[in-house]
Amino acid sequence: MRILVVEDEEAIADIIATKLRREKYEVDTSFDGEDGLYNALTNIYDLIILDIMLPKMNGIEILKELKENNINAKVIILTAKSELDDKLKGFDTGANDYVTKPFHIEELIARVNVQLRSKGNNNVKDILEYSDLSLNIRTSTLTCLETSEAINIPYREFLLLEYFMNNREQIISKEQIYDKVWGIDNDYESNNLEAYLSFLRKKLKVIGSKVNIKAVRNLGYKMEG
Ligand code: CA
Repeated sequence: MRILVVEDEEAIADIIATKLRREKYEVDTSFDGEDGLYNALTNIYDLIILDIMLPKMNGIEILKELKENNINAKVIILTAKSELDDKLKGFDTGANDYVTKPFHIEELIARVNVQLRSKGNNNVKDILEYSDLSLNIRTSTLTCLETSEAINIPYREFLLLEYFMNNREQIISKEQIYDKVWGIDNDYESNNLEAYLSFLRKKLKVIGSKVNIKAVRNLGYKMEG
């Protein structure tokens, strides 16, 4: 499997590349947007790790070009926490997942493994259904059965959605969600969950589902549809 890392901070690019090579991936690096696009258009990559803020051409522009040129590599966006809008633009243009800077290299590697495993692994074949929703566990694709619209769900939102679908029509507390989705040891920031939930709600709306995740005052959240 071959991965392209597009990141203008060369030290960061090198750390990522070194770690990925230890995981037995083939890795190339680009340090600006133009070179990144040039490499990506060769269409030899299974996955691209793409920084958003880049010299010469930014990550969002690169994503658009990839789409127009039918490059079907998986894409994981790297973005600063303050660039929430950029993340959303990223999903509209077809990124599969994102990691906010600063990030733990182990987390990035885990995301890479999730994306690349879902591509070729036929052992796991699982569909989770609720109301008009069908979630493909293997490909992280969420389909609305009424509209036939589908959307790819990035890693963390996928964990959230899976948890809600498995506990549909039940009130789930914030603490339960953090433990399940972020892990017990995680030093989360209290506003992260709201952001992820709003991404998820937006996607439910985009595919035309009637399912909603409602806030239940002082208690938590509940999936209804
Ligand atoms: Ca940058």
